[in-house]
This record gives sequence, structure tokens and C-alpha cells, in this order.
Amino acid sequence: MSLAPLVSLRNIAKRFANGTEALRGFSLDIHEGGFVSLLGPSGCGKSTVLRLIAGLTDPTEGTVTRTQQDRPLGFVFQDPTLMPWRTVRGNVHLPLRLAGISKTLAIPRIEAALAQVGLQRFAGSYPRQLSGGMKMRVSIARALVMRPTLLLMDEPFAALDEITRARLNDDLLQLRASQRLTIVFVTHSVYESVFLSDRVVVMAQHPGRVIADIQIEAPEIRDEAYRTGELYNRQCRHVSAALRTAMHEQDVAA
Ligand code: ADP
Ligand code: MG
Repeated sequence: MSLAPLVSLRNIAKRFANGTEALRGFSLDIHEGGFVSLLGPSGCGKSTVLRLIAGLTDPTEGTVTRTQQDRPLGFVFQDPTLMPWRTVRGNVHLPLRLAGISKTLAIPRIEAALAQVGLQRFAGSYPRQLSGGMKMRVSIARALVMRPTLLLMDEPFAALDEITRARLNDDLLQLRASQRLTIVFVTHSVYESVFLSDRVVVMAQHPGRVIADIQIEAPEIRDEAYRTGELYNRQCRHVSAALRTAMHEQDVAA
């Protein structure tokens, strides 16, 4: 593991043309192998942080540095945005085609990515034949097929029912372990953030900023015993309290 952070945001300000100040004085270091959740009210700049990390937008002030620039990053959104006229295999193929990778090389990579999300049997299915959770798995496979070291996830499971969400949470932790991924995960859910992360960064808005940076303690295996245990519950209460502070600061600023 390298000591330099994989991603470093230093003193970021982000103002949009219409005057909205999405972020001010925002700093965050993300180390290799970490699982960091960004938690905060809608509009506090979480998506903007991911877009800055991905280089999809530039900061107005401050610097964004990312080591391992030669390795791709993956981006997964709440909406799986699959092409309805292509099969699961065809959808996962897309980024490889765009990167000009030959079909011979692409096929085993597509199969591997589908296996990672448990969808081998559905390779020939069309998106309309899949449940919401399965569509999200396709979307994750499409990100993994590029073999990213860094995975950015913007409320990926927010639209899913609770049972599906819990299964995807379990599977994401397995993926993280087997693929050595570094993950930055945006969520509205205190429970999800504490279940998944090593660290929960709580943000407030107007302007978007960090108000708490909470280290999560958990056993090596996060299973049902962890999810229902006192350690998990205590940390959920702690993170909830920080989130309430974030909401309160927002009311005071309003
Ligand atoms: P979050 O993901 O936490 O809900 P966003 O990062 O999407 O927050 O947005 C932060 C703030 O910036 C919000 O007030 C939003 O309306 C504003 N914003 C985001 N993108 C743009 C844009 N392209 N132009 C103007 N304002 C924007
Ligand atoms: Mg957002």
C-alpha cells in the first residue's frame, strides 16, 4: 500500500456559473483500499465531489490530485442507464468497445465481470427482463470490466427495495475484498454508510463542507451478526447525531 493518498482534494471551492457555491474549503484524502462514504443532505455537494475526483469538472479553487492516473476509475450511478436494445453481455461490452479492445480480449473480461456480480446466467437477457437489483449488477459489471482501482458510486442502491439493497451491500463488500477496490460511496442512508465503510464523511450544505469524519470499527467479516449487533448500532447513533448537526447548521444558515 502506498503512503500517498490515491485521491487528495485540497481546499476545494466549487462555484457554478449561476452563483451556486456547491463546495467551500473542502478537503479530503482517500487512501488505497479504503471505503469512504459521503453522507449528507441533498444539495450538499456529494455528487460534485465525485465529479471532481473523476475529473468530469474542475474546481474553482484548490487542487484535486489522483495517483495511479494510468489506472481507470469506475463510476456507478443510481440510474443503471443500460441500453435496452442490447443484452447484458452487450451492455458490459460497451466500455471495452469504446476503448478499442478486440472482441477476443473482451469476451473473457466480460465473462469475468459478469461472474463478479453473479450474472453469468443472464448474459443473454435484455434489461427489460431484469429486476432493479439485477440492472444495478449489470451497471456495476460494466464499471468493473475496465478493471478500475477506484470505484465511485453515487447513491447506487437508493432506488432499490431494502432486501435487494442489503444483498447488494453484502456483495459489494465481497467485491471490494476480492478486487482490492478503493471505493467512494455516496448515500443518504446512515445504516448503509456504517455497514459498508471504513470511514463516513458527513457533509453540510450552503456551502458544501465536511462537518464530521468518522472512523468505523467493524469485524473482518461484516455479516448479519454485525448488522444486528451493538457495535453497529452504536456507530449508527453516532453518525445519525452528526447528520442531525449537519441539518441543523443548514437551518441556521438558511
Ligand atoms: P448532492 O449530490 O449532495 O445532492 P450536488 O453536488 O449535486 O449535491 O449539488 C450541490 C449544489 O450545487 C446544489 O445546490 C446543486 O443545485 C448545485 N449544482 C450542481 N450542479 C450544478 C450545475 N451544473 N449548475 C449549477 N448548480 C449546480
Ligand atoms: Mg447527488
